[in-house]
Amino acid sequence: MKNSDLTVRGIHKSFGGFQALRDIHLDIPKGQFTCLLGPSGCGKTTLLRIIAGLERPDAGKIELSGRDITALPPAKRNFGIVFQSYALFPNLTAAQNIAYGLKGKLPRKQIEEKVREALELVDLHRIEERYPAQLSGGQQQRVALARAIVMSPELLLLDEPLSALDAKVRIKLRQELRALQERLGITAVMVTHDQEEALTLADRIVVMNNAQVMQSGSPQEVYERPNCPFVADFIGAINFLPGSQVAGYPQPEALLAVRPEHIRVVSSGRGAAEHDVPVIAGLIRHVEFRGPYYRIELQLLNDREEPVDQAMTIDVSVQASQSMELVKHRKMMLTLPQERLL
Ligand code: ATP
Repeated sequence: MKNSDLTVRGIHKSFGGFQALRDIHLDIPKGQFTCLLGPSGCGKTTLLRIIAGLERPDAGKIELSGRDITALPPAKRNFGIVFQSYALFPNLTAAQNIAYGLKGKLPRKQIEEKVREALELVDLHRIEERYPAQLSGGQQQRVALARAIVMSPELLLLDEPLSALDAKVRIKLRQELRALQERLGITAVMVTHDQEEALTLADRIVVMNNAQVMQSGSPQEVYERPNCPFVADFIGAINFLPGSQVAGYPQPEALLAVRPEHIRVVSSGRGAAEHDVPVIAGLIRHVEFRGPYYRIELQLLNDREEPVDQAMTIDVSVQASQSMELVKHRKMMLTLPQERLL
């Protein structure tokens, strides 16, 4: 399968007076899985549609292996596209849907062979004669995926392909999609608003907001070293602590961004670690279990450990052995390892 580097240079796009994309620059590396991640309306789909050729930019260029393809019609780009709505032909079987794009382009025998291969790749070979209405959502999306990859596309474009599926199927198909992409070595660009999906699937995440790219990098980079509060907040849970509440922190106006897993909870004298810096002390007012972390509302205590008229909500990852101590009215202190304050 051929693979190419895609570059996006200075793309602008407006709809009427509304600017949907502002000066977008991107490098999509060959053979990698790139996720365009951002909140609803930030311009991800518009960018994907411009890459696909379904939309023309007002300014800027799209290059494939150094070749300007900005004006090339979609049919001439040889990109596979999978949408959230599976967009299958209802009157064709799974196998016929997959074969559709190859009709007239290859001898019948070869088409049959390619379709069989594609069906096996997405694990649908036992139900190839079924019509879309006889398939589950996950199976329909597998057909759509097989229909895209059977064309040996240079680039696989995916617009929220998993969003319509229920959580369990979504996670399974996510893993299958990643395995398939790696196996074929295909370059993939996927739009998603789901940060967990982007973190688990992507080699590179492009975080977008308000028509702009805020940051792009590996999942680890954008998670560990977000370049702005928006990225820090959008990817994973994060606490923004006012500097004034962090003991010994020299800049009162500064915001300290701390992931839940970096905070340590000290309760009933347990959980303290050497070199930790105390950050906040308070009485627990409310506790909410959020899966990977707890959201805790604290009534803050002053230096003399007296309650003050100030509350703070903070997300913390708590070890199972400590979760029993998250009891209303109990005193709790949060500390940070010293290196987190540097
Ligand atoms: P979502 O996750 O909700 O699909 P998105 O990040 O993919 O959001 P886009 O679909 O790219 O966002 O849309 C970006 C903005 O451009 C939105 O405010 C949208 O309303 C607007 N927009 C997109 N297409 C058109 C169009 N054809 N005409 C007018 N406005 C449009």
